[in-house]
Amino acid sequence: MIEIKNLEKSFKTSYGTITALKDINLTVNDGEIFGIIGLSGAGKSTLVRCINLLERPTKGEVVLDGKSLTTLKKKELLKVRQSIGMIFQGFNLLEQRNVLKNVCYPLEIAGVKKADAEKKAKELIEMVGLSDRLLSYPSQLSGGQKQRVAIARALATDPKYILCDEATSALDPNTTQSILELLKQINKTMGVTIVVITHEMKVIEQICDRVAVIDKSQIAESGKVSTVFANP
Ligand code: ADP
Ligand code: ADP
Repeated sequence: MIEIKNLEKSFKTSYGTITALKDINLTVNDGEIFGIIGLSGAGKSTLVRCINLLERPTKGEVVLDGKSLTTLKKKELLKVRQSIGMIFQGFNLLEQRNVLKNVCYPLEIAGVKKADAEKKAKELIEMVGLSDRLLSYPSQLSGGQKQRVAIARALATDPKYILCDEATSALDPNTTQSILELLKQINKTMGVTIVVITHEMKVIEQICDRVAVIDKSQIAESGKVSTVFANP
């Protein structure tokens, strides 16, 4: 479970303090697909970065499975980071590495033996439907295929959570549809809790159970997708 309590994040810049997030309270339950929607600049990416420990909150806290991330020691941080898989709009694949090596990468960092890493990576690559592209390089793949590789890589360390930051925003509608189906399948069969950050209502409608609407650094509304989107 992810609990965000009274979270505030501000940035000091040369022209003053920018408050990117204010009074954010929300809970993502285990096993659900939770959506966070908002316009550009609303604070979505900052929220993701507070959850995956790339930013430290100015106030409030993020609690993961009952553990407050603000009190973690460096050693524990690494472990927590490994329990959160990330998928991005720009895929963030390593261009010098082929598909197999991209998916092995987080396992190498975690110190898994090469043979074990490759076995695990191959299983995941099969699951995302790219067994015939093991030795291809990212530049030889379509956007949808790249995102499938990124999903396999995100799953390599058996994360409990996957955060998708505008993961389908660079894809055409059909490819978006198939990637969302894949995420749904991963949620159902592997029990991974998924947080979907997007500016697109259609994405939320297609896979999310609940949604929070972020507007100007704050949560404007949250609840079941059908309820929240029923109010114009
Ligand atoms: P979104 O992801 O919804 O587009 P962001 O979280 O990227 O929104 O940004 C929210 C606000 O915080 C914006 O006004 C942005 O300019 C500001 N912001 C984000 N990161 C920084 C930073 N490192 N320094 C200064 N301002 C930032
Ligand atoms: P560094 O040595 O650069 O501080 P860390 O891995 O300790 O590297 O931290 C990386 C980022 O994670 C930093 O931006 C920091 O603000 C954030 N961070 C570190 N520890 C925590 C924590 N316990 N809670 C929230 N954010 C954290």
